[in-house]
Amino acid sequence: MLDQLEHLKKSFEPCLPRGRAYDIVAYMVDATLKQLTTGSSAPITFNKDNFVAACHESHDPGQVDASKWVPKSQALHGALQRLQVNLGTGERVVLHEQVGGGRGNTNQYWLALEEKNTEQASGQQPPLDLDIHYRQTAKGEVKPFFWLRWVFREGELRNRSPKGIFFLSSLFLLSVAWILLFAVGVLGAYVSNEPLTLGNLTRLAVCVLSFYFVWRLVYHPWWQLIDHRVVLAPGGAAAISENPCQLEMYRHGTEKWTRLVRFTADCPLCGGGIELARGKPDQRQSLVGRCQESPHSHVFSFDRALQIGTYIGPPLPMVLKRRDL
Ligand SMILES: [Zn+2]
Repeated sequence: MLDQLEHLKKSFEPCLPRGRAYDIVAYMVDATLKQLTTGSSAPITFNKDNFVAACHESHDPGQVDASKWVPKSQALHGALQRLQVNLGTGERVVLHEQVGGGRGNTNQYWLALEEKNTEQASGQQPPLDLDIHYRQTAKGEVKPFFWLRWVFREGELRNRSPKGIFFLSSLFLLSVAWILLFAVGVLGAYVSNEPLTLGNLTRLAVCVLSFYFVWRLVYHPWWQLIDHRVVLAPGGAAAISENPCQLEMYRHGTEKWTRLVRFTADCPLCGGGIELARGKPDQRQSLVGRCQESPHSHVFSFDRALQIGTYIGPPLPMVLKRRDL
């Protein structure tokens, strides 16, 4: 067990994949190794508060709901399995879990060693659950770009407030002006009767592409929001330091509100972080969850109302379904 854990730790130390499942697995390997080097043979057990204390940025289980912050055990299994794919030994480190049940009894986790590719070992693995639950950032957690701070000062914007009406109608007028400017530019080039030189054609192509990209990246997402409810945040909406995030329009009571938000989840296949991204070109849905470790293979649907999703990527190899890599 000691040798296998040291081997495993050396393999991921140079470059640990991103995601809280990987952080937790690395912490478990490290703590178990430390205990084994003292000569103790009893497995060290962990609970979710230990994971928060070691891996959450606050390191304070009192401030964090550990049951929501810690990924489902499926993602932890996936992360541990992925880290060992290329180790090539006859044994592997596996995660064991004892479900608490009842008030005050928390789930216990520990690492153990087992033979690879035995039917008995495969039978001990939990069946692969391909459903995921998205987490949503709290109001005001995603910081807007400085020019939008007055709009989202309270973390959200009531669409029919004076500020909301002013902002949304300004956006509407700006996007209409942008289209008119484009139309006038193209019409001007047409009626000017300038000769079709390579220079003129290049200028026209640069002009058309610039208008198109500004429209797609800045104005179009605000129009899509009315129909889609959640869209990828338009260019210039979120602060530069923010990770990819979304714009959400939702109904609360009789009012509609708009805010910046980020939906994330943990990949049950490999433990990587899932972020919302465009469905095209491989999916029909406009917005899907893509695993950062394998964006075009580990793909999940996104249900905004229930904040859940399920696997919709290409057919999975049998060896992955059996958790027998
Ligand atoms: Zn994945």
